[in-house]
Amino acid sequence: MTALILHGGAGARRERNYDAEVVHMRQVVEAMKARLDAGDSALDVAVAAVTLLEDSGLYVAGKGASPNLAGAYELDASLMDGATRRAGAVAALQGFRNPVVAARAVMDRTPHVMLVGEGAALFAHDQGLEPIADEAAWYTGAGQGEDNHPPGTLSHGTVGCCVLDSRGRLAAATSTAGVFGKMPGRVGDTPIPAAGTWADGHAATSCTGQGEYFIRVAAAAQVAWRVATGQTLAQATQAVIDEIGHMGGDGGLIALDAAGNIACPFNSQGMKRAWLTPEGEIGVEVFGR
Ligand code: ASP
Repeated sequence: MTALILHGGAGARRERNYDAEVVHMRQVVEAMKARLDAGDSALDVAVAAVTLLEDSGLYVAGKGASPNLAGAYELDASLMDGATRRAGAVAALQGFRNPVVAARAVMDRTPHVMLVGEGAALFAHDQGLEPIADEAAWYTGAGQGEDNHPPGTLSHGTVGCCVLDSRGRLAAATSTAGVFGKMPGRVGDTPIPAAGTWADGHAATSCTGQGEYFIRVAAAAQVAWRVATGQTLAQATQAVIDEIGHMGGDGGLIALDAAGNIACPFNSQGMKRAWLTPEGEIGVEVFGR
């Protein structure tokens, strides 16, 4: 049995057309289905899916990133392998094409979980990760259309993926440019295991929304902890989104449990998402719940 769910952010706004994203998300799920059918690991598939989402330029991550208030592109990413409980992350990384690949390298090739800023960039360089030669030419600004909140609030966009592989392993990965108009050095939930990303033996979760709220409820880990106490994935994920809503936060999350159940609650206008069920069915949705 295999299953997968990915997201392209919960910043979707009703007046925008998402035909390109819908086509792209389906293509990514189809490509990842082939990899899962071939026996690839949940972690490899999660990283591959997020890499494709970063490279598309369609979402506020990777090529579609938005700059911070100083005009710099500081990107965050993390991943977690449920089978081993290993995790890797980068925060405020500048100058590299795929932050999720840098996060994977931190996990695989350092004794640490997270590297930030200049240290993360030095490490990415040493690892031979692909640099961005010309930022002005690389970043498309395509995600800017997600800037849908009143001035002073936190508009957002992110990508992520949760995977269950044929050996029953869960993994999650998330990547973002963060919220629009963020301060230099601001770090949201995305690169923080337990906040924006989590995978253990119970559930895998990737969050999207106003990260300041997701951090304060340990959103991604809380889903798994609730599942561990006997809640269904639907109950666990809705409880976390409700708590964030009660605090005044906006966003959503995607999650998978070890039985292949999928959940994707959100309290924003929409959340771009696509999934593969254990029965092999593929679905794509932006606004419907
Ligand atoms: N959660 C991300 C952050 O706060 C943004 C997003 O998901 O859209 O950086």
